[in-house]
Amino acid sequence: MVCHSCRNNQQSVLPPRELVCGDEHWRVAHAFDAALSGWLVLVPRRHVTSIADLTDAEAATLGTWQVRLSRALRAVTGCVKTYVVQFAEKDGFAHVHFHVVPRMPDLPHDRRGPGIFAYLGAPEARRVTEQHQDALATALRAHLDLGPS
Ligand SMILES: [Zn+2]
Repeated sequence: MVCHSCRNNQQSVLPPRELVCGDEHWRVAHAFDAALSGWLVLVPRRHVTSIADLTDAEAATLGTWQVRLSRALRAVTGCVKTYVVQFAEKDGFAHVHFHVVPRMPDLPHDRRGPGIFAYLGAPEARRVTEQHQDALATALRAHLDLGPS
């Protein structure tokens, strides 16, 4: 089974949507098959299938990325908060990935909490376009140094 995250981690050049930001341990991408604008995934640079196998160095920046991405999503999308979820159960997607998802103020009640996953794995016609993902990634970059406001 080819690992989607490793395949992209190995590319030397990636579009903004596949490298919103990152450091030596983590890469941030826009989910490719989401019907919700701003659905990000935070993936380790090496193939790890359990959080327990992350190194202390990888763990050290994990929380910082989750909070910085949440601040940037709030600034760019106007979300009231973010959801952070990690399963890594789908075939081809066992590579640890933290979903960091904007929870918009007008999100329908039946999509709140785990219901948010109805926006992932969307059919091609309903996905956030690559052009929009790239534009959003660029906007997020401009906000990634924001402290608490
Ligand atoms: Zn992998």
